[in-house]
Amino acid sequence: MNQTVEFQQLDAAHHIHPFTDTAALNEKGARVITKAKGCFLTDSNGKEYLDGMAGLWCVNIGYGRDEMADVAARQMRELPYYNTFFQTTHPPAIALAKRIAELAPAHMNHVLFAGSGSEANDTNLRMVRHYWAVQGKPEKNIIIGRNNAYHGSTVAGASLGGMGAMHKQGGLPIPDIQHIGQPHWWAEGEDMTPAEFGLARAQELEQAILHYGVDRVAAFIAEPIQGAGGVIIPPESYWPEIQRIVDHYGILLIADEVICGFGRTGNWFGSNTFNIRPDIMTIAKGLSSGYIPIAGSIVSDRVYEGILPGGEFYHGYTYSSHPVACAVALENLRILDEENIVANVREKTSPYMTTRWKALAEHPLVGEARMCGLMGALELTPNKASRAKFEGEAGVVGLMCREHSFNNGLVMRHVGDKMIISPPLVISESEIDLLIERATKTLDMTYTDAKKTGLM
Ligand SMILES: *Cc1c(COP(=O)(O)O)cnc(C)c1O
Repeated sequence: MNQTVEFQQLDAAHHIHPFTDTAALNEKGARVITKAKGCFLTDSNGKEYLDGMAGLWCVNIGYGRDEMADVAARQMRELPYYNTFFQTTHPPAIALAKRIAELAPAHMNHVLFAGSGSEANDTNLRMVRHYWAVQGKPEKNIIIGRNNAYHGSTVAGASLGGMGAMHKQGGLPIPDIQHIGQPHWWAEGEDMTPAEFGLARAQELEQAILHYGVDRVAAFIAEPIQGAGGVIIPPESYWPEIQRIVDHYGILLIADEVICGFGRTGNWFGSNTFNIRPDIMTIAKGLSSGYIPIAGSIVSDRVYEGILPGGEFYHGYTYSSHPVACAVALENLRILDEENIVANVREKTSPYMTTRWKALAEHPLVGEARMCGLMGALELTPNKASRAKFEGEAGVVGLMCREHSFNNGLVMRHVGDKMIISPPLVISESEIDLLIERATKTLDMTYTDAKKTGLM
């Protein structure tokens, strides 16, 4: 039997995939990725792909860095595991927490580690409610998120997020979480200018605070740029207004930096790019470039000091500040810093990529092409002027486009009929050229299909 088929059969027999229609996948057989180097993946048939998604938005330094493997091996030999409960610590946790505090905005100096972005948002939910309880306001426990936001897949993460399909499974959201509209001008701005729409969507936060009462609202959580929702870059008017509102009412601001953090937007954090001042930042993905699971909550001095009088915070994970994960993350931060990767994105690769990517808006299938740092999206549409949706179910054309993209050797993801991209931050100009060449070919093939099937 061909090895790929054998892999696929065993995978179907025993492995349940995340976010997957298992019956449909088992019928078709999964793609088997066997190795990766730089910005390229190789599958079990030897086909190469340019990884336009950096794994799942995380492989910021690219694949195959030996230093990362060496550090992991060294740390495993030295101290493979110890916990940081019971008044104990270890050098990798100390060093990583210090380094993160240096990189974070000046008012944020403390980190509580977790194993994943979802877990870190669970931490955040409990921490902000605990914070207000310690301030003598236990009823100040409502957290406001946004429709179509993604904050992970655990009970708290999925509740804070605004994905309707996720809420329908497992009885979510849990109580005292509310959602306002997203600043997605292309899809929802109608006749407003982007600036008017950004302001209107930000003011929904103020309306929500007044509706539920300042004495009930604990925090607002948002991604600086929505990632999984479809790389939704808010209008420029949005974040300054949000900041004004949280400051005015004294509500805590949680910036979910799981995608935006560690260089994705051309700065260390999305909060730097949008000039926002969060009380907590969620970090994961790019923290270790995905080489090992690690995440955390970076906490402002206000929240840190606010919680101290509360005594023990009954929270944490067996793998909080795992020594191997901390050592690997620290090495990743060293590489990002010493190789000047974040500044290089801001000054060189992002401007180049942005120019080339935005030119894709001239394609007859593309209504808008947007990019910030190295995360971007294409809005596929049958009518650019009216920003129309395709006939029938959303996502049919997007899925076609993704399949063509894979066949053309480029990993792009589709969210409905948006195509999204988030390549490793080490992508070179010639690799960007290749990405654009493959994306263009993919759009041409998708356009032909959409015409043929009467979708446009
Ligand atoms: C991926 C993601 C998460 C969840 O992180 P996991 O490590 O998958 O649990 C949370 N927030 C945002 C913004 C994400 O993109």
